[in-house]
Amino acid sequence: MNILISRCLLGFPCRYDGKSTDNERLDLFMAKYKEKHNFIGVCPEVEGGLPIPRAKSERVGDKVMSEYGEDNTEAFEAGANIAVKKAIKYNAQVAILKSKSPSCGTGIIYDGTFTSKLIPGNGVTSQKLSDIGVYVITEEDLDKIEYLLDNED
Ligand code: SF4
Repeated sequence: MNILISRCLLGFPCRYDGKSTDNERLDLFMAKYKEKHNFIGVCPEVEGGLPIPRAKSERVGDKVMSEYGEDNTEAFEAGANIAVKKAIKYNAQVAILKSKSPSCGTGIIYDGTFTSKLIPGNGVTSQKLSDIGVYVITEEDLDKIEYLLDNED
């Protein structure tokens, strides 16, 4: 199975602060499944044209704004569209995306006030992938797809 995955979860230092994300549970998961399944990295913010490092952004209504008031909606949308194209090209039916991110967050994201408050919602890329039928989970929900991966030919 082809699976999209947030590139920062693969150890690439592409987060807004120039760091990657360490996750021991995900490392074990990858070790178990990487022989049988194909993990395809995506970083919608960088692929959409934003630099590393960059200002923190959050969804504010229909827009994505930086903490300094810049409107980054266009870059976030462009990156999400690239992820959608990859999902279609590789027939990826599952995506593992970084939790809480304004691009990759799934189910819960920051509320747009830059005060660390969380609200129900999806990042721009997570939403677009869900809209085309990709099953999107975060790195915190890996158990949701283990049965699927264990039983896929
Ligand atoms: S856009 Fe997604 S993949 Fe890129 S750094 Fe942010 S959370 Fe990670």
